[in-house]
Amino acid sequence: MSAATTAVAIQLKKLTIEDKLYRNRWKVDEVSHLWIKDPQMCVKCPFNMACIRCCPTDVYRWEENEIRITYDACVECGACRIVCYNIGWQYPNGGFGVSYKFG
Ligand code: SF4
Repeated sequence: MSAATTAVAIQLKKLTIEDKLYRNRWKVDEVSHLWIKDPQMCVKCPFNMACIRCCPTDVYRWEENEIRITYDACVECGACRIVCYNIGWQYPNGGFGVSYKFG
């Protein structure tokens, strides 16, 4: 690891999650790459709203008795599709989605 890479790694360790997210860039598609397969299942969620708790960027919110998805904030980590099979998930269309400044 070069000295410059080490310096960047040390800087990143000192940042909060919000600081790190702020360094990302998104090109948002008009079509969501996330969806709920069966919205009625969410009303009696068998996973205790795991999608809300696992998402690092607060994509999922429970409002007015349904799950709301703010897909433009997604960092494509895939955590939500692991914790709930009721979430439809695919990578954004080519050229859209998140870009990481540090890879
Ligand atoms: Fe949130 Fe990750 Fe799911 Fe995107 S892929 S909605 S960032 S948990």
